[in-house]
Amino acid sequence: MAKDEKEPKAEEAEKKQEAPAESKEAETSKTEEGEPSAEAKPHIEANTKPAPGPRGRDARGPPAFDIDAWKPKTEMGKKVKMGDITDIDQVLNSDKKLLEAEIVDALLPSLESDLLLIGQSKGKFGGGQRRVFRQTQKKTKEGNKPSFATCAVVGDHKGHVGIGYGKSRETVPAREKAIRRAKINLIKIRRGCGSWQCSCKEPHSIPFEVEGKCGSVKVKLMPAPKGTGLCAGSEISKVLKLAGVEDVWSKTTGKTTSRINLTAAIEKALKQIMEVKVQEKFKSNLNIEE
Ligand SMILES: [Zn+2]
Repeated sequence: MAKDEKEPKAEEAEKKQEAPAESKEAETSKTEEGEPSAEAKPHIEANTKPAPGPRGRDARGPPAFDIDAWKPKTEMGKKVKMGDITDIDQVLNSDKKLLEAEIVDALLPSLESDLLLIGQSKGKFGGGQRRVFRQTQKKTKEGNKPSFATCAVVGDHKGHVGIGYGKSRETVPAREKAIRRAKINLIKIRRGCGSWQCSCKEPHSIPFEVEGKCGSVKVKLMPAPKGTGLCAGSEISKVLKLAGVEDVWSKTTGKTTSRINLTAAIEKALKQIMEVKVQEKFKSNLNIEE
């Protein structure tokens, strides 16, 4: 553009008037097309990129619970749908049994679930890797009939936790069964701070030592000061994390590789937290949150 302007002198005046306008336009267009577009594109990408994430997660995860589509079968379920019961503790403290998993879905929308590694893969060369599904076979005349079992744990990180065992001929129904049973088996645990090394007033640990046993497996859970973390095996940690316990020391004895017995022992230990009667005067000392 600059060379064209200098060479023809006669048209200088016209071009000077036109050219700067054009160049300005070109510059503005360049800036509009060049710099802002370079800025705008990442913005669009930034706006669009996170959006598929949650959508994808929603699509992969279980569908959201629809309370209107639910037809309660038990009296308690009807009360929950009518709105007479709004708190899960009302359900857990009542004499009646929790028989519908949808009650838990309706009252605890923030519930999370996880699967415990109770199975083991077969094979040579370091086989025996931990799996979610425990595969077993029945020998029949027609051939081998495999079946899958899994162990699910649900919790809201606020003192409610449940463990369920499900078994089926296929993997997906086994998982659904396990999660449904885990919701029905939901229990409330006392959280607190029973550690003498910690003088905080927060329910980050358990209030006292508890022990559970199933088969040869014994699990002992001990209160720990803040910042300790979960000093326990991976499966114990999963359960405690979903229960909302952050700091704990643990000790296990027996054949802990039989994970079904291990999960049962954890469940019994957690149940013991509620079975122990605590006097009112100690409740404030142990910072128990109920
Ligand atoms: Zn503490």
